[in-house]
Amino acid sequence: MVYPGDVVALDDVSLDIARGELLAIVGPSGSGKSTLLHIMGTLDRPTSGTVSIDGHDVAGLSDRRLSALRGRRLGFVFQQFHLTDGLSAAENVATGLLYAGVPRRRRHDLAVEALARVGLAHRVGHRPNQLSGGERQRVAIARALVNNPRLVLADEPTGALDTANGRAVLDLLHRLHAEGTTIAVITHDRDIAASLPRRVEIRDGRLVRDSGGTA
Ligand code: ADP
Repeated sequence: MVYPGDVVALDDVSLDIARGELLAIVGPSGSGKSTLLHIMGTLDRPTSGTVSIDGHDVAGLSDRRLSALRGRRLGFVFQQFHLTDGLSAAENVATGLLYAGVPRRRRHDLAVEALARVGLAHRVGHRPNQLSGGERQRVAIARALVNNPRLVLADEPTGALDTANGRAVLDLLHRLHAEGTTIAVITHDRDIAASLPRRVEIRDGRLVRDSGGTA
């Protein structure tokens, strides 16, 4: 991936993620992690090379079809949660279904189920400002899961949390992995990376280490 100004943010990186994996993409600040997340998440198109999801090369898709694919097959979790303040937890989670053409009532039921999966069945009607940071991140994880995505991309998911809440979110990711969800965690934190079954290390835009697939 080359940015304007000839910044080579990713160089000759090849990464295969198998169904059911839980992996860390780890590296220092500026190493290219966010760029890789954007490319894997089809938010950016690479300067060269291919991105395949479920075996389909996404290069030929229009922006509209690409965002539909993203909405159906991928789930995103961000450091700062990105929840909407005026909506309840269930309404926030239901926004993860907007591309799926699911009727409103069914969206609500699926959102409640996803909240139960992350241990928040008792917080369905709460707004983000009535929830702790750890609970907010679990709502964001429920939103990422509600569509049964092929891959969840989590960008520094514990970065805004204190140690206890961060650990709870990591435990949740491990549990979801045990239930079969495929998850890639982007992190600069070596301890977090060390706790995950597969570690891929990026440095100066290059993939310098891969502990190997585990699925
Ligand atoms: P990380 O997420 O590991 O901190 P990034 O992927 O954000 O790393 O950045 C990798 C490199 O690409 C850095 O040198 C950064 O300055 C550069 N970069 C990132 N985004 C852009 C952009 N939009 N335009 C130009 N350079 C960029």
